[in-house]
Amino acid sequence: MEKFGKRFDGKVAIVTASTQGIGFGIAERLGLEGAAVVISSRRQKNVDEAVKKLKDRGIEVTGLVCHVSNEQHRKDLIKNTIEKYGKLDVVVCNAAANPSVDGILETKEPVLDKLWEINVKTSILLLQEAAPHLNKGSSVVFVSSIAGFHPPKGLAMYGVTKTALLGLTKALAAEMAPDTRVNCVAPGFVPTHFASFLTKNEEMRKSLEENTLLNRLGTTQDMAAAAAYLASDDAAYVTGETIIVAGGTPSRL
Ligand code: NAP
Repeated sequence: MEKFGKRFDGKVAIVTASTQGIGFGIAERLGLEGAAVVISSRRQKNVDEAVKKLKDRGIEVTGLVCHVSNEQHRKDLIKNTIEKYGKLDVVVCNAAANPSVDGILETKEPVLDKLWEINVKTSILLLQEAAPHLNKGSSVVFVSSIAGFHPPKGLAMYGVTKTALLGLTKALAAEMAPDTRVNCVAPGFVPTHFASFLTKNEEMRKSLEENTLLNRLGTTQDMAAAAAYLASDDAAYVTGETIIVAGGTPSRL
């Protein structure tokens, strides 16, 4: 079994969209390091299964249905967390959608609205609910993407919403300082359900791997390690930053 520190002993963490993939990996890592974690996603069945997996690993966990677009779900997520644990230390905004592979100029208005809503706006609305409960030393982590740096064909508008999170990280870091730090993880490609349309294609997968310096795709644990660092006191003097976790995929200087 992995050996982790206990950087989150006594802390309470919400991770959105966390019943599988990167969100689940982040919740698991925070939980293994001692946090009480509140996980959620759209489907009760997925929530129940993920809660069981985390409990089986000895993690203190609460699971709720929360479709991030649903105002009542967002309110309930915060309310239930505070009622159960009395405080909130970490919020990881991980939910995203990529409903279309169309070029930006071909993307229909409802799709543009959905991308903006799920990938950017709902994180802001959730943080508006969460902010009154965030104490000194608390932390927010956004999950952007390598696609936010170079929005690629087929992921262009999705990439632009992820670029917006880089700005949101800077803006909220200023607005929420000094009590709350705000940072961001920009994952490279990770073979989750979300990315399966790319990573299940052998040729595409190979080209994504070759585009890294480390010759492999990322893992959910790679992303969780970075998110846990940013959320922890190890990053006590880090705010407004984005860590790219993409195996050296070209991104920025
Ligand atoms: P994933 O494995 O497909 O998991 C998505 C999770 O989100 C599931 O638990 C799903 O459960 C939940 N979910 C989906 N829509 C939701 C909504 N509207 N409200 C609440 N929960 C929702 O996805 P992933 O690859 O881990 O992606 C997580 C984040 O990483 C996203 O922000 C994505 O943009 C980012 N990212 C991923 C990659 C990659 O290569 N995988 C690369 C860069 C960035 P339900 O179905 O039960 O709702």
